[in-house]
Amino acid sequence: MLHKCPICKTPTDSTEHGDFPFCGERCRDRDLGNWATEKYVVSEPIFNEDDGDEIAASRETIILELDEPNAAGH
Ligand SMILES: [Zn+2]
Repeated sequence: MLHKCPICKTPTDSTEHGDFPFCGERCRDRDLGNWATEKYVVSEPIFNEDDGDEIAASRETIILELDEPNAAGH
């Protein structure tokens, strides 16, 4: 099976290259290095941030409700 090294685009052969689809150990390591660095970093889920906003919003509502009796007492 013929393929191209994803790093340097050198034609590779699955029967000849032990590091297939990479042309060699160096390119395979380079790809692994890419995964370890920011190149392929998966962004953190943002739903946690949304949850925080919701909690802050509900907390604000509670404070407003607590303020109301004081205003009525005047
Ligand atoms: Zn290569």
